[in-house]
Amino acid sequence: MRKSFQFRIYPNKNQEVILERTLSTCRHLYNDSLEERKRQAELNRLKQSFDVFPWGYPEWINYYDQANQLPLTKTPFQKEVHSQVLQNVLKRVERSFQNFYNGAGYPRFQGRNRYNSFTYPGSGLKLEDGKLILSKIGAIKIILHREIEGKIKTCTIKKDVDQWYVSFSCQIDIPIIPVKIETITGIDVGLINLIKLSNGKQIQPPKYLRQSEKRLAREQIHLSKKKKGSENRNKQRIIVAKVHRKIRNQRKDFNHKLSTDLVNNYDHVVFERLQIQNMLKNHCLAKSIVDASWSQLINLTIYKAEYAGKVVELVNPNGTSQTCICGHHVPKDLSVRIHNCPNCGLVMDRDQVSAIIIEKRSTAGIAGIQAYGATSTEEQRSRKPQPERVG
Ligand SMILES: [Zn+2]
Repeated sequence: MRKSFQFRIYPNKNQEVILERTLSTCRHLYNDSLEERKRQAELNRLKQSFDVFPWGYPEWINYYDQANQLPLTKTPFQKEVHSQVLQNVLKRVERSFQNFYNGAGYPRFQGRNRYNSFTYPGSGLKLEDGKLILSKIGAIKIILHREIEGKIKTCTIKKDVDQWYVSFSCQIDIPIIPVKIETITGIDVGLINLIKLSNGKQIQPPKYLRQSEKRLAREQIHLSKKKKGSENRNKQRIIVAKVHRKIRNQRKDFNHKLSTDLVNNYDHVVFERLQIQNMLKNHCLAKSIVDASWSQLINLTIYKAEYAGKVVELVNPNGTSQTCICGHHVPKDLSVRIHNCPNCGLVMDRDQVSAIIIEKRSTAGIAGIQAYGATSTEEQRSRKPQPERVG
């Protein structure tokens, strides 16, 4: 299995110049390769419209074409960069086209503020005496605050506003012993910052995170009021990026703790499959941050569960908020917080009902392991859970 380890690195002034230059070289290569593919697609389109295909089939440029061509056309800047770092750039172009074929947007040209990382193969680096030695760049100070496990496969150097990070992706070979599934939970991730377990437990991100998010909204309004292209706008852009970074780190921290808790407490964890399509289309920033954070939580839970021999299952999300545990269709819009079933009489917090439905849709749920207590609708009818206070 793969596991990643992230550390901050501390380049000196000279090294920072080289890192910046490498980023810039990679970004130009990315944009040029994208341009080349776009031109070829355009040419194919023209050929097709003029019906010249009887004399020649459409040709497509793929990763291997571009990778083979690269050594022959290297610019002086490209010669200063490790060749596999450049190949990785071409792989990224390839991946962005694959994503496009799978429904994501058309690959975009990358601006200076967007393209912020480059990737080394495991063979292009060494760790020695608190230094990360990168081929063609040099020995950069690094503080290894935790041990790296497994074999380093790739190493990605990333710029985050004014800080630099390295992320090692490692191959770990450990025998995994599956545990016997005894406990299960369904999890409903909310539109807002909230998750609900099928046993009714509600988990909310810490207050400091919500405060940072409020601050982000404020700083963004300031940004929108600054004149385009002005020095003040640029300063404000950096402030916004830093608040973003803070939130990202706080969320990651929260998601790490939460995923550990989930895996420690349950053998089988069930989430809804998040709809990536919708996430990419969503232009509301606050919402997209929350969605990205949920997918991070799910991914962290998956890999921790894998480690522990436990199971994470993703189930069909359709209609989880509109169905009762008894199977009856109970439509309700977002403002209705309490589920009230006319069929079986169940009255319960709506998110908890969703979490229970999610749990029931899992393979273990169908097999009959239930964490929320009530084992039949008969029993539920007699108990009639009281609605919880919400909000
Ligand atoms: Zn019902």
